[in-house]
Amino acid sequence: MAIGREAILGWLDALRQVYAANRERLTELDAAIGDADHGTNMDRGFTAVHAALAAQAPSDAGDILKSAAMVLIRTVGGAAGPLYGTFFLRAAAACAGKTELSPADVVALFQAGIEGVQQRGKAEPGDKTMIDALLPALAAMRAAAARGADIAGLMDDGVAAAEAGMLGTIPLQARKGRASYLGARSIGHQDPGATSAFLLVKAAAATWRA
Ligand code: ADP
Ligand code: MG
Repeated sequence: MAIGREAILGWLDALRQVYAANRERLTELDAAIGDADHGTNMDRGFTAVHAALAAQAPSDAGDILKSAAMVLIRTVGGAAGPLYGTFFLRAAAACAGKTELSPADVVALFQAGIEGVQQRGKAEPGDKTMIDALLPALAAMRAAAARGADIAGLMDDGVAAAEAGMLGTIPLQARKGRASYLGARSIGHQDPGATSAFLLVKAAAATWRA
């Protein structure tokens, strides 16, 4: 599939469905080490993104991502709202002026988004956050693109790395966000944000395979 406007809209629509389907799961994970709102936050945000884009979707992929970012910042709340808002705002800038994304452009989209999350949240690898799923995904996608992988191939590698990173948060002690208040009691639980971040990458891979 060529990654242009329709593919970006398809990804955002897939995210609405994925976060609706995983609402309880994400909320359960956040109940263990946070305040039990991550599933409802993500579901509310992407439902609102869908409503805004259904009413009027911009003609350009970058503008669509920018409009999604604005809605997420307004509606998700918590720590995740500004972080995912920043992800899509930076991703939008990486797509500016492009009608179709090459494999390198897809990597650039994720790179810009993930760097934005890092700058905004100041989390380091191993802090038990969404960064622990996102950074390995980016590294795997970059490596695959450097080997000449197509978009489906590099996304598959990204998903596998994001999943491993997500599972790798279980033994970690949280050092950022609400879960960090628990200290050593955060050990043994999968991070909700790393889980929603894995789903973000997985939804892109699934949508763009067609
Ligand atoms: P809140 O913690 O405000 O209730 P959410 O429950 O929606 O917000 O999101 C929690 C998730 O946000 C955590 O599981 C973690 O992955 C992520 N998170 C929290 N703080 C940071 C940060 N500084 N950088 C990156 N991710 C973070
Ligand atoms: Mg929470």
